Amino acid sequence: MAKTDTIAAIGTAMSNSGIGIIRISGDESFSIIDRIFKKKNGTRMNPEQTHKVHYGYIFDGDQMVDEVLVLVMKGPHSYTAEDTVEIDCHGGILMMKKILETVIKYGARLADPGEFTKRAFLNGRIDLSQAEAVMDVINAKNDYALKSSVNQLNGGISKRIRALREKILYEIAFIESALDDPEHISLDGYKLQLKEKMNPMLEELEALIASSDNGKVMTEGIRTVIMGKPNVGKSSLLNLLVGEERAIVTEIAGTTRDTLEEHIFLHGISLHVVDTAGIRNTDDVVEQIGVLRAKDAAKEADLIIYVVDGSVPLDENDREIIQIVRERKAVVLLNKSDLGQIVEKEQLEKLTGHPVISVSAKEETGMEELEKEILSMFYAGTIDFNDQVYVTNVRHKTALMESLESLKLVDKAIEDEVPEDFYSIDFMNAYEQLGSIIGEAVEDDLVNEIFSKFCMGK
Ligand code: GDP
Repeated sequence: MAKTDTIAAIGTAMSNSGIGIIRISGDESFSIIDRIFKKKNGTRMNPEQTHKVHYGYIFDGDQMVDEVLVLVMKGPHSYTAEDTVEIDCHGGILMMKKILETVIKYGARLADPGEFTKRAFLNGRIDLSQAEAVMDVINAKNDYALKSSVNQLNGGISKRIRALREKILYEIAFIESALDDPEHISLDGYKLQLKEKMNPMLEELEALIASSDNGKVMTEGIRTVIMGKPNVGKSSLLNLLVGEERAIVTEIAGTTRDTLEEHIFLHGISLHVVDTAGIRNTDDVVEQIGVLRAKDAAKEADLIIYVVDGSVPLDENDREIIQIVRERKAVVLLNKSDLGQIVEKEQLEKLTGHPVISVSAKEETGMEELEKEILSMFYAGTIDFNDQVYVTNVRHKTALMESLESLKLVDKAIEDEVPEDFYSIDFMNAYEQLGSIIGEAVEDDLVNEIFSKFCMGK
């Protein structure tokens, strides 16, 4: 392995906590720890005893800094694939800084954000999509996102990309060899064979691209829109959902005045809820505006919660909303169940084609049923997560789409009976685009940009 300088950083959060971890990686790791660490019994430790935990003290010269545990990992069997040392110290910010300063004083340099993971990539231990997954695992805001990232980290996407690249490379190699050596390798009948092979490749790419929409749901939350006429109780319901004890609410930047947006967590599922209410006027046209605005919001929604006031009859505006809702994934809430009901549940179920749940925002009833319904739609139901590979990364999606475009060009060229030597360029482009996902043939700039988004110490 090429000689590298030795980097160090605080690996845990910069807040006071039980323990803090300082990480060191590189050729000098062991000699640095040898100079600043003494075991409890006063002896020096032997870093060659790899994957062992040593108990003792960090010293800066004669000055004792802290009582610590030191974990030694000899490369390549470490996160970075380099010689690595982790120091578990008391988790005060000042203490972690002191130890980091000591490590730097004795020869390490402060790591850039993401540099540990970058080294794991550069040393070939993980590929680029796995490295990116590390960041996604850390940033995951819900169970889905976490599972998806862990899957990617384990090479779920890489495996499929590699298989596809191999197929493409085979065709490139075949065409090039045949062109170089037409006497021994014949292209007779090749077009027909290739045409048959194209479909599975195109389908695989399309499937991966399609999964990226689910990926979006997982990383950003299910985009949920609450729809309904004014005064049916939309805001009251949103407040109720947000106010749930088990719901964690975060404010979302860019919240506008007339569409209120909230993030709600329901048992590990993240809902990004947009309330289309907020239009409160007495003019007659207002209901119409409400419907128009709701129509817009519905276009973007993964899930619609359609709220009906059960105590007043359905009208034209409801009929318009029902038309939109019929085509989408939705749950219908028959609100104000505490009042005399005019709208019938069964009738509404028939009209909308969706489950209808009686609720009362006022008396706070029916919320559990709503939660259950949403959970079953998204957890076990509509989005089937188990063992699936989801593309959660915009960079990956773009590369997949470009790759698909190139393969389609090849497909078209076969159809148009264009000679084989013209296929290579597009095949090559598809191959390189796929390679960029796993970090093969990518420019240094891109690698640097990706790792700069990491947090310190990772
Ligand atoms: P929005 O315009 O759809 O957002 O409706 P609001 O949430 O502002 O509610 C309109 C009115 O209906 C308010 O006066 C609420 O107090 C009332 N309201 C909402 N939900 C219920 C309910 O379940 N029962 C009763 N009786 N009144 C409700």
